[in-house]
Amino acid sequence: MPVMELLVIQPTPFCNINCSYCYLPNRHSKAVVSRETLANLFSQVFASGWVDGFLSVVWHAGEPMVLPIEFYREAFRIVDALKPAGVSVGHSFQTNGMLIDDAWCDFLIEQDVGIGVSVDGPKHLHDRHRLTRSGQGTFDRTIAGIRRLRRRGVRFHVISVLSSLNLKAPAEMFDFYVSEGIKEVCFNVEESEGSHVSSSFAQGDVEADYYRFMSEFWRLSSANPGKLDFIREIDHAIQQVMRPRDAITANQLIEPFAVTSMDVAGNISTFSPELLGLKSEKYGDYLLGNINTDRLVDLAGRPNLGNMQRDIRAGVELCRQQCQYFSVCGGGEPVNKLSENGTFVSTETTYCRLTRKRVTDLVLSALDRLPPSGSCASAPDDIADNLPDLVRGEGSTASRIEPWVGG
Ligand code: SF4
Repeated sequence: MPVMELLVIQPTPFCNINCSYCYLPNRHSKAVVSRETLANLFSQVFASGWVDGFLSVVWHAGEPMVLPIEFYREAFRIVDALKPAGVSVGHSFQTNGMLIDDAWCDFLIEQDVGIGVSVDGPKHLHDRHRLTRSGQGTFDRTIAGIRRLRRRGVRFHVISVLSSLNLKAPAEMFDFYVSEGIKEVCFNVEESEGSHVSSSFAQGDVEADYYRFMSEFWRLSSANPGKLDFIREIDHAIQQVMRPRDAITANQLIEPFAVTSMDVAGNISTFSPELLGLKSEKYGDYLLGNINTDRLVDLAGRPNLGNMQRDIRAGVELCRQQCQYFSVCGGGEPVNKLSENGTFVSTETTYCRLTRKRVTDLVLSALDRLPPSGSCASAPDDIADNLPDLVRGEGSTASRIEPWVGG
């Protein structure tokens, strides 16, 4: 039986801005998911028995805050009314932050909504890609939203997309986060994905740049203890490298329905959320059915799911056979294999070379520099606990921010 861990809901495809690297094909559409569709979704999700105690719900794939607060009050009421005893649900938003006001802060606090804000660094870097439809930069309004979250005591993290320019500016990026009191940082790379084909990574030695960026950023964090609480890429890599020998590397993106995505019309997909909205004759546009006309549990038997699963597994098996990083990666992200290599049945991508291989190299290199004895005990579990302290002066926070979430 599938185990559903994460449900990604597109409340609307509409976005109030038009980032140059955005992968969403329908971001001009102002459609809004209906109350009935949400009720159909959650009643079937909870009835399926696929949720094991906790379900994370991310409202994403469009700008969630273009909808009124009352939309989410009603949506959360629907979820609460349908939720069985013994299951808890955590909601979160990924937003560009431009619409955050005091009313939103009140709601986020009251409903304990997790929030990630997309900001790509200081103004001159952020405004290169994150633009309004008329081509104006969005930094001023995004940073105003971040400052309001801080003033109101709303906990948040940021996601910054790294492109060729900010990769060259680790110190400037670090100073920006510190000056704005941003404590939790996630980096995405500008990928070839969906309707966006990355160009900035086509030139130069992006792997060397990425490694230098992460290395210098981590060094700065270590040299300034207490400034950052969480660097997702580093903290996740430490957890993967230092896990017990027999612990399996979980890769929820290759398990059917572990990540389930629903678009504004009720169409259901799984594996990488970005697949929802892509076209494919071979896999039936990656759509398994519609929650308003199909039974969720029946979707597990759809032939196109079987075809996707077979090919994704074949790609993971190739990774297992060929890649020395498999034990810390678990076979990568299907959508990146598809976008970069043209098939799930493949292995290496630029994305995995950066976000898996080079970051793992960085952590292994830090481990090599640890003293054999002294403040750090030699048992692997103790090293895992102490490595963040030794290299950046604080404990690693929990792995609670989904690695795939786009910027
Ligand atoms: S790092 Fe890349 S090639 Fe290696 S297992 Fe992961 S996806 Fe496959």
